[in-house]
Amino acid sequence: MQAITCMDTRLSYRALGLRPGDAHLVRNAGGIVTADALRSLLVSKYLLGTREIMIINHTDCGLMKATEEEIRRRIEKRQEFRRARRLRSTLFATSRRTYASR
Ligand SMILES: [Zn+2]
Repeated sequence: MQAITCMDTRLSYRALGLRPGDAHLVRNAGGIVTADALRSLLVSKYLLGTREIMIINHTDCGLMKATEEEIRRRIEKRQEFRRARRLRSTLFATSRRTYASR
């Protein structure tokens, strides 16, 4: 099985009723099927034989109510992030959809 979940610390292997070796777990902010998550999903399915895929979100996920633009603006306000300007163009998707619209 493969599961795509939010990086929220409450969604651990243990909380999901899994043991190491039971599933390929892909975690990111919001449990979003990004290009990178999709790549892992394809490797899991076509190279490692996974037959089941789950997308697991959770109640009150802070990222489900925010747009990518809102998240980007909040991070860019941080002083330490402004010092790392070269990273900015590669960190955020160009999509303006809200996660709640999935
Ligand atoms: Zn979350």
